[in-house]
Amino acid sequence: METIFSKIIEGSIPCNKVFENERILAFYDIEPAAPVHVLIIPKKPIPSMNEVAPEDLPLIGEMHSVAQQIAKDLGIAETGYRLINNCGPDSGQAVSHLHYHLVGGAKLGALVGGSSSHA
Ligand code: 5GP
Repeated sequence: METIFSKIIEGSIPCNKVFENERILAFYDIEPAAPVHVLIIPKKPIPSMNEVAPEDLPLIGEMHSVAQQIAKDLGIAETGYRLINNCGPDSGQAVSHLHYHLVGGAKLGALVGGSSSHA
């Protein structure tokens, strides 16, 4: 299924690229939720975390490794960041192409976990 992200991968929609290799693309989110907000996506069109297959696990691992490197490159590795995946309607997933949000560069409000979360 064609999505906005598949169009970004094929180049028919531009993006502000942060990283690219044969398997993974990372670019700045068009509506940043934090001073640093990068989307990390596989070029393989996996609709969501629900469709990740066992053979995709090296790819998922590589996406984490790319996130780690981008956090370092953008200077937020030490101050901290979140790596977020939205999966399905309750999460608010809007684009049906697997992606991680890498957000940081400011104190992030607690959603789950963290020192200021509610019981
Ligand atoms: P989701 O809600 O699916 O987890 O996140 C989708 C993200 O994609 C949103 O944060 C949204 O701002 C971002 N986004 C949607 N369309 C575009 C686009 O055309 N370019 C870029 N760079 N980001 C987009």
